[in-house]
Amino acid sequence: MKHPNDDGTRVDYAAEIYAAMLNDSGTSAGIEVASDPVEVTRGAERTAAPTPPQKSSSGIVESSASAPTATFSLGDTPLARELSENTRRRQALAAAVLPLPAKTRVVTVANQKGGVGKTTTTVNLAAGLARSGARVLVIDLDPQGNASTALGIEHRSETVSVYEVIINDEPVTNVIQKCPDFDTLFCVPATIHLAGAEIELVSMVAREQRLRTALEKFLDESADPFHYVFIDCPPSLGLLTINAFVAAQEVLIPIQCEYYALEGLSQLLTNIKLIERHLNPVLMVSTILLTMFDSRTNLANQVAQDVRDHFPEKVLTTLIPRSVRISEAPSYGQTVISYDANSPGSLSYLEAAAEIAQRGAPH
Ligand code: ATP
Ligand code: MG
Repeated sequence: MKHPNDDGTRVDYAAEIYAAMLNDSGTSAGIEVASDPVEVTRGAERTAAPTPPQKSSSGIVESSASAPTATFSLGDTPLARELSENTRRRQALAAAVLPLPAKTRVVTVANQKGGVGKTTTTVNLAAGLARSGARVLVIDLDPQGNASTALGIEHRSETVSVYEVIINDEPVTNVIQKCPDFDTLFCVPATIHLAGAEIELVSMVAREQRLRTALEKFLDESADPFHYVFIDCPPSLGLLTINAFVAAQEVLIPIQCEYYALEGLSQLLTNIKLIERHLNPVLMVSTILLTMFDSRTNLANQVAQDVRDHFPEKVLTTLIPRSVRISEAPSYGQTVISYDANSPGSLSYLEAAAEIAQRGAPH
């Protein structure tokens, strides 16, 4: 994969972009995952759900196991309609054949707002595409290492990780690990060392291009081609995120359906434009995904409509619902697709993955 903008003279622009980005440091908003009554009532469907592994000490196992079992006739109730709708969705997904891209699609999942679903989206779309037969690589570029955790990937501090790739020129092939749940899903893990990389990068040569250089080399030399690379970004617009923008062709922005959803978005788009102009001319926002949608609130519906009005071409039709199963999965080191494949959250991520594959690369 050759990049049209390998000219070392562009380093000057980088300082300007970086300064602009630092003016907009992201905030970290914690999310409270409320129990979803719609899901809890799906006991009838849950009879086929997998038994979660027993390794967590949290109350999660208890809450999953205690889902009621329907022993009554559902008739034409909202629950019956929902169950039949889920069955229809499962059948449609089973019948769909997803096209594989001819060239590796490198997608950076970014939003400087914290807790909007970047990591959840990264790992579940990656798993959804891997399940359909694509070879997928996830690069965990967040020192929190949440994507590594969710994929069941070793990332203790002594693990060789993306830090060594970016700072010590370690080849990607030496740090890559296979996800235990999917044969074609791989991960470059992040460890806590990555937290220091932002500062170490500042004085390095070609500091914005280090990930791209390493990734291009890996993809060029890989015997089996990869179809997708997803890069999970931290909730900030520092040098790690710039590296992710420079390494990718596409940006996927998850937007949480809540009041502050659009705050900071124009700054993010401005920064992406700056990167496109000076460091990576092929970069573009290809996809916006609405996450944690709660159809019971007017606010969520209004936010979703606002985002669709602003970006009609970019927003996926699929909405990701707020779902207990999605939030439980990482504590078992799993994506929701392996944790509870038939849950509504899993179906939504599979549908979003299908949409991304069917839309194809934007260029
Ligand atoms: P950060 O900015 O810290 O990297 P993030 O943008 O990567 O956060 P996630 O970690 O994916 O966001 O999600 C934040 C929290 O919300 C997590 O606890 C996650 O399990 C939960 N979550 C994400 N999506 C959903 C969903 N659809 N339903 C319920 N909970 C969700
Ligand atoms: Mg994250």
